[in-house]
Amino acid sequence: MSLPQSRHLVTEVPGPRSRALMARKLAAVASGVGTTMPVFAHRAAGGIVEDVDGNRLIDLGSGIAVTTVGNSAPRVVEAVTEQVAAFTHTCFMVTPYESYVAVAEALNRLTPGDHPKRTALFNSGAEAVENAVKIARSFTGRPAVVAFDHGYHGRTNLTMALTAKNMPYKHGFGPFAPEIYRAPLSYPFRDGKEVDGEAAARRALLLIDKQVGADNLAALVIEPIQGEGGFIEPAPGFLPTLAEWCRAHGVVFVADEVQTGFARTGDLFACDHEGLVPDLIVTAKGIAGGLPLSAVTGRAEIMDAPHLGGLGGTYGGNPLACVAALAAITAIEEEDLAGRARQIERLTKDRLHRVQGTDARIGDVRGRGAMIAVELVKAGTTEPDPDLARAVAAAAHRQGVIVLTCGTYGNVLRFLPPLTISDALLTEALDVLQTAFAEVPA
Ligand SMILES: *Cc1c(COP(=O)(O)O)cnc(C)c1O
Repeated sequence: MSLPQSRHLVTEVPGPRSRALMARKLAAVASGVGTTMPVFAHRAAGGIVEDVDGNRLIDLGSGIAVTTVGNSAPRVVEAVTEQVAAFTHTCFMVTPYESYVAVAEALNRLTPGDHPKRTALFNSGAEAVENAVKIARSFTGRPAVVAFDHGYHGRTNLTMALTAKNMPYKHGFGPFAPEIYRAPLSYPFRDGKEVDGEAAARRALLLIDKQVGADNLAALVIEPIQGEGGFIEPAPGFLPTLAEWCRAHGVVFVADEVQTGFARTGDLFACDHEGLVPDLIVTAKGIAGGLPLSAVTGRAEIMDAPHLGGLGGTYGGNPLACVAALAAITAIEEEDLAGRARQIERLTKDRLHRVQGTDARIGDVRGRGAMIAVELVKAGTTEPDPDLARAVAAAAHRQGVIVLTCGTYGNVLRFLPPLTISDALLTEALDVLQTAFAEVPA
């Protein structure tokens, strides 16, 4: 790797060049488009993002779970370089090309279940979620869709309706698509021990049965681990019970694995953890090493329900993104990145549990693989403490560690390193976080 894999600060963060660019951003870019850090990127590789001032930051964000195989991963760079010189676009709906078909074959092979499958490719996670809903409605002939508390599915009109959180995703942007209903999730930290996975599923299914009715319901859309909602892992049994109910009632079970997919959680897909086989699985983020690509993959009879020409889009399955995805998938398989994610989980959780032992403001340490979070609360309670999350993140940022917050209450720090980060860099980032916790007063 040409970019040294070490944290290195040569100016304060942000430095003068980033500050000058931020002034231009403020004058030129719509102010609704925010940034986590006021720092402009120059290059990135492995576990490091180097900014325009020459500061090297440790990356615990992966551009929101995208650069799973590392930034500018050599295989991805090579494949895209070759493709960009051959052709950049023909539109798959006009004159198709092999790489699109090869990505579909790979997804059909790798996603949970060994039934016959088909895949369609799109550009963004939200676009793929919308298409999953279109496909489920076409297959079932039913209108309604159920999403869950704390769910995040995107920012288009239909996916805003599916997304739970008002601020910042929905506020002022309605009215939203109709026939979307919301059911309660399993949230072990807040449910307490009395509500196990099955009980939480029964709670949700009772509401769905009484307020929607299975006969009106096309699809149930759920993230196997809530991402933006706070890395909420449902209690064991919750997802299988929902899936079983869907099967019994002809409802399409859609797993939104946009954030959890492609080895992020220590399995190739988060559904694999409980042997769950969704009818449709939506993927994006980690799929193509940073190029925009998304997919819906699922049972052939469901995927083939829409009429000829009913699915598509100008750029869906762009050839650069497709060859990048094939290279990323090769890296994930050949380098056993799922195994690497499990190592990252052990190292990260071990440290966070130790910090939790000395700091009662860490209410919960959770997540799987390289998708780990801490939920912060007022010590000794479950009252969310978003100010603490903000303060710790800001302290980490100043010390050259990229860390993101999330959660319905804004009180969750989440760690999503590229799976190519070294143990040494990860340990150093956790040192910085531990110091940040110690320095932010209770
Ligand atoms: C990010 C995300 C989306 C939306 O993906 P975009 O590419 O930003 O449209 C949908 N679902 C989940 C679970 C996500 O994390």
